[in-house]
Amino acid sequence: MSQKPPPKQFVKTPINGTRFVVLVSSAKGGVGKSTIAVNLAFALQNLGLKIGILDADVYGPSLPKLINLNEKPKNKDGNAIIPLEKYNAQCMSMGFLVDELTPMIWRGPMVISAIKTMTQKVLWKDRDVIIVDMPPGTGDTQLTFAQEVKVDGAVIVSTPQDLALLDVKRGIQMFDKTGVKIFGLIDNMSYFKGDDGKEYKIFGESGVEKVAKEFNKNFLGQLPIHQDLRSSADKGEPLTHSDPNHEVSKLFKNIAEKIKQSFL
Ligand code: ADP
Repeated sequence: MSQKPPPKQFVKTPINGTRFVVLVSSAKGGVGKSTIAVNLAFALQNLGLKIGILDADVYGPSLPKLINLNEKPKNKDGNAIIPLEKYNAQCMSMGFLVDELTPMIWRGPMVISAIKTMTQKVLWKDRDVIIVDMPPGTGDTQLTFAQEVKVDGAVIVSTPQDLALLDVKRGIQMFDKTGVKIFGLIDNMSYFKGDDGKEYKIFGESGVEKVAKEFNKNFLGQLPIHQDLRSSADKGEPLTHSDPNHEVSKLFKNIAEKIKQSFL
């Protein structure tokens, strides 16, 4: 009698040169995931960790703009890639390898190959943690990280309106199904504080926190809509790096402390 073959066991390859790997993910685009990823990375740096930032959004890399860095990384021995360095962070992005305006018209296998290159052939060195800015959604990149890269956990970023929350629930289930630990959820653009001191909840109230409770996940905190966060991102000087004492940087610090406790 023929027996069902056992489920395929994936070999999870560690990223060399770092002790920990944390994914920053969102199920939907435009919720501030890249901005949060980069500011969280520097908030972790402010806590004394040596950081790397890996921009895994092959189709829409944001890292070059977010840290104002547009150089080509150098090769070593014709095969390995030396990550770029900015603000004491080692950095890698597909955006360093192609022109800013070149669209990546790639099929899935090419994306998977790019992710493998960025996780296995980049000479990360002496890092405590690499923060991975994931593309939105639940596609090839997510599956490659979940099945083939040794990651310590994931953070999910969302805005609090219903339309985004539906995607968050899908994102949670994807990580649960693929066995990636979810460190917690972050509510971005939770409120806008007006000149009158009032908090305006433009996208609704506590939506992400409610989903965290529903799925028994940690809620890591809220971040407001703040012009300084947007303008610092556009300048390529992440707020947590350029102004660690800013009120929003302090909120990042609280969240970074919780994330640090999750993996250290
Ligand atoms: P995603 O990675 O989810 O597509 P981005 O990080 O690119 O989103 O953010 C989209 C835009 O929103 C950017 O212009 C960014 O500066 C801005 N943004 C993100 N979060 C905030 C926030 N909390 N306050 C103000 N602007 C924000």
